[in-house]
Amino acid sequence: MGLYEALWTAAEQRLEQCAFSGPGLGAEGVSYGALHERAGRWAAGLRALGVTPGDRVLVQAEKSVEVVVLYLATLRAGAVYVPLNTAYTAKEMAYFFADAAPTVAVLPAPEALAGAPSEAHSEPGEEVCLRLTLEALAARLDEETEGLAPVARSPEDLAAILYTSGTTGRSKGAMLSHGNLLSNAEALRTLWGWARDDVLVHSLPIYHVHGLFVALHCAMLEPSEVRFLPRFSPEAVLEALPGATVFMGVPTHYVRLLDAPELTAQAAAGMRLWVSGSAPLRPETHEAFEARTGQKILERYGMSEAGMITSNPLEGARLPGTVGFVLPEGEVRLRSEAGAAVPEGAVGVLEIRGPNVFSGYWRQPEKTAESFRDGWFITGDMAQIDETGRVSIVGRHKDLVISGGLNVYPREVESVLDTLPGIEESAVFGVPHRDFGEAVVAAVVLKEDAYPGDGATLAALREALAAFKVPKALFPLATLPRNTMGKVQKNQLRADYAETFSERAAP
Ligand code: AMP
Repeated sequence: MGLYEALWTAAEQRLEQCAFSGPGLGAEGVSYGALHERAGRWAAGLRALGVTPGDRVLVQAEKSVEVVVLYLATLRAGAVYVPLNTAYTAKEMAYFFADAAPTVAVLPAPEALAGAPSEAHSEPGEEVCLRLTLEALAARLDEETEGLAPVARSPEDLAAILYTSGTTGRSKGAMLSHGNLLSNAEALRTLWGWARDDVLVHSLPIYHVHGLFVALHCAMLEPSEVRFLPRFSPEAVLEALPGATVFMGVPTHYVRLLDAPELTAQAAAGMRLWVSGSAPLRPETHEAFEARTGQKILERYGMSEAGMITSNPLEGARLPGTVGFVLPEGEVRLRSEAGAAVPEGAVGVLEIRGPNVFSGYWRQPEKTAESFRDGWFITGDMAQIDETGRVSIVGRHKDLVISGGLNVYPREVESVLDTLPGIEESAVFGVPHRDFGEAVVAAVVLKEDAYPGDGATLAALREALAAFKVPKALFPLATLPRNTMGKVQKNQLRADYAETFSERAAP
């Protein structure tokens, strides 16, 4: 069964049920019946615009229920949904545009792309039929009176292309099939005990796996209500909590919620599940949240290429600093860079296999071939797996610092730094160094009044860590550079401090 058919089959049982509520959606919100009825007409409209099964519909638009309708309509028409971060500039969009070669493209400023240089590799003969704003597209699609019957899709058919954040080189389009997305959604729904009376507070963006697939699929498969907030703010989330049961956020959201004194055990009392992912949740945040609300955040781990991979359990220990167990039907293993098995308990590169794992990168056969080893996808994350199968992510492989030939895992150093007096948070990374190849350094956000100074901090680090792991410089910053999904932008830090030990900068 295709993903749309599964979502429709679920909704058919409860057409009156509220699907989306929240600001601007009226007292009643939008029911599942209305959502799918509109998606049906929009699918017919897309077809009339020349979108045939397998064609791409590219969408860069602010979060709204219309975007969800467009997502559903695209699936229903058998086409491929390509969401893009609203922060991308017209110049960046020119690449995605040429790469995805969409039939319809929804853009905030369609004219901005006209004549934009393109170095991407669209196939000869491919032409974009239509670029327009969401508003203009909605006006055209709403004119349709008859719905299009859902186009049958098999599990192998492509449902979506998610572009990875592309911090090194060009962003790659992860091809996700109906089978990938549906199997993952069904696994999470069971694992997290989704129920019809669940009410999800949704404040994530919907161009990313977390907000679009994880959050929406769980709710739509049941089907249950989504309180749809245009964006995250602690105030808006706290206001949406009464009557809600589930929240999904990135670690930064939890940090910001904890800054709000209104977050109390009482405010959280109706909630049954707080999910965190997309970036590491610091143990301090986990603990502070539990101390404040009496509830433990459930941390899970995943990525664009595979949806969710591991999760802490709903019942049972949710351990801070770990991302839990591989999802049913999935498999994980650790390998050295050269592909050898690593000794038990040691750190290795995490490789995964399972129905959730994508088939490859769009039009990049070489990148695809490089990313798989004997049918296992090489995630690029470094991890440890304990004897019970519990996974801990140590960091991205490309963030590993090799100093004087020794491996330094930034996460290990950060976890010590973060517990020292006066350190709010930290990001450890490597910069070029003449003797060591790379030197370990750290950006630190300070609680000024409690900070004992660099000397005392480095001395404390030397007590806790082997000397080669201790940063050779600390750079105070007001905040760490993060993207909207809460990931610290280490590339940016590496670039900003690249000259620290260069000949010119050296004393
Ligand atoms: P994306 O494809 O944008 O979702 O990014 C996926 C990457 O985010 C993963 O490869 C991890 O490096 C990171 N990530 C996601 N969830 C977690 C987590 N719970 N802990 C640590 N890293 C995470």
